[in-house]
Amino acid sequence: MISQPHLIARVRAELARGERDRSCHFFPLPAEGSMPSVLHAYCGFAIRPGEAEPLDAPVGMPCTSCLMAAALSS
Ligand SMILES: [Zn+2]
Repeated sequence: MISQPHLIARVRAELARGERDRSCHFFPLPAEGSMPSVLHAYCGFAIRPGEAEPLDAPVGMPCTSCLMAAALSS
């Protein structure tokens, strides 16, 4: 079984405008490893790589929708 590689990231603090921006989202990464211009989280939240703060582990408040989707897909 191959688990889907994913990236945990949140919007940079200086760019966050609300609670949803401040929570950690899980982004499925393409298998080829090329970074798309816009990343779409499991919950549908879209973020540009330049606006994202990559995280090694979920910190703060994780996005519940992403957490559920990531848990189900792994
Ligand atoms: Zn999310």
